[in-house]
Amino acid sequence: MSDGGELTCQELVELVTDYLEGALSADDRHRFEAHLDGCGGCRAYLDQMRETILAAGGAAGADLDPAMRQRLMDSFRDWRSSRDV
Ligand SMILES: [Zn+2]
Repeated sequence: MSDGGELTCQELVELVTDYLEGALSADDRHRFEAHLDGCGGCRAYLDQMRETILAAGGAAGADLDPAMRQRLMDSFRDWRSSRDV
C-alpha cells in the first residue's frame, strides 16, 4: 500500500475507517491528508463517515453494512457530479 504515490479517491474511501480509528501509518496518513487538501469531495465524504461513526457509537461500530456503505458512496458521487470538479 505504501508505494509513495498519490491516493486516488477510491483508495481514500477504502482507508477512511482506518484513518478515523487512527490505524494508518504516519506515511499513509500523510498521503490521506494530502489528498483531502486537494479534494473537496473526499473531505465531504470524510465528514459523512465521521458523523456515521459517531452515530454508531464509535469506530468499533463502524463495520458498515454494505447498504450503508453504498448509500455513502452514492451521495459522494452525487456531490462530485453536482460540483463537477
Ligand atoms: Zn478525492
